[in-house]
Amino acid sequence: MRASTQPDGRKRIAIAAPVLTDLETRYVTECLATNWISSKGKFIGEFERLFADYIGAKYALAVSSGTAALHLSLVACGVRAGHEVILPAFTMIACANAVTYQSARPVLVDSDPEFWQISPNDVGGRISEKTRAIMPVHMYGHPADIDSLKETVKNREGKIFIVEDAAEAHGAMYKGTKVGCLGDVSAFSFYANKIITTGEGGMVVTDDRLIAERVASLRDQGYDYGKRKYLVHTSVGYNYRMTNLQAAVGVAQMARIDEFVGHHRKIAELYTQRLHGIPGLVLPREAEWARSVYWMFTALIDEDEFGMSRDALIEKLGELGIETRAAFLPIHLQLPYSGQFNLERFPVAESLGRRGLNLPSGNNVSSEDVESVCQAIREAREA
Ligand SMILES: *Cc1c(COP(=O)(O)O)cnc(C)c1O
Repeated sequence: MRASTQPDGRKRIAIAAPVLTDLETRYVTECLATNWISSKGKFIGEFERLFADYIGAKYALAVSSGTAALHLSLVACGVRAGHEVILPAFTMIACANAVTYQSARPVLVDSDPEFWQISPNDVGGRISEKTRAIMPVHMYGHPADIDSLKETVKNREGKIFIVEDAAEAHGAMYKGTKVGCLGDVSAFSFYANKIITTGEGGMVVTDDRLIAERVASLRDQGYDYGKRKYLVHTSVGYNYRMTNLQAAVGVAQMARIDEFVGHHRKIAELYTQRLHGIPGLVLPREAEWARSVYWMFTALIDEDEFGMSRDALIEKLGELGIETRAAFLPIHLQLPYSGQFNLERFPVAESLGRRGLNLPSGNNVSSEDVESVCQAIREAREA
């Protein structure tokens, strides 16, 4: 349990915590009261329908986590041993892990220094005859530049699938279209700190009927739904099912998803106003073609100019009861992958990982909290 107040009575500000209401309680209680607590039950289908409609896609399939959603998306696109999947070096490790689960090879690309997304210019040189998919990740809620990626793969021999990782970007828009239906298939996460939550959970979203059918079967032990009564399994599948209890929370959260997105954007606007002009502090930008949902409001700290290191600032804010977090350590610097990429450098990804600071950004964070955080940052710097 996280205490909301500290011993001295000052409020503690969590980086991102779920916001739950009576509606979640009512729906979960309904599952318990009616005994529908496994992955069968009415909330699963309802959550999938609501989510597909929200994104504007034909199919949405609920699964046990965002990582499971990524993994199944890759399997459904036929990614297997010997294949390569291109993804940004600056992302969460789950992206590379999903590729590794298939015994395929993650191929890393640096980020663009402006919006911190996979750099389309650097993708072209990484494509080989083994490339089966590209995984753009909408980092921190800002969309990746999908059209440029599509342009890059357009004339390649053989299909290269675009698998969006939209785990941080529910409601984000690229040129007026919601992310999650820009490529062949996409993965969302409903972990407790995401835009909406089911505690743990994920969703695969696609317009492609074949991919949807494969994912439906694969999440459920490779079951052949067409031959249900004979209990036929057509592949080595997984148990990646979401429970009705989780989906009940998801259905309740969907009632507020627009409000949550608006909240994240409002918090970002406040941070931008209050932190603007502080030397050594670089604020996130929104491309003119983008609507970011600012899943995490992330600033970069330039130690020399700011007069304090990123890590020292994290510690200082922590002492004041303000929870912040370092940006992702890039994939090639993570222990399980360092051997694979030991000669490669990704300077932008490394710089983002070294300088990036996630400020409190969740649905729990109030305007007053933002004021406190900004004041604490100014004071830390001047101390
Ligand atoms: C959270 C996240 C995931 C993984 O989601 P889980 O639900 O935690 O498995 C994958 N990719 C990105 C970019 C994420 O932020």
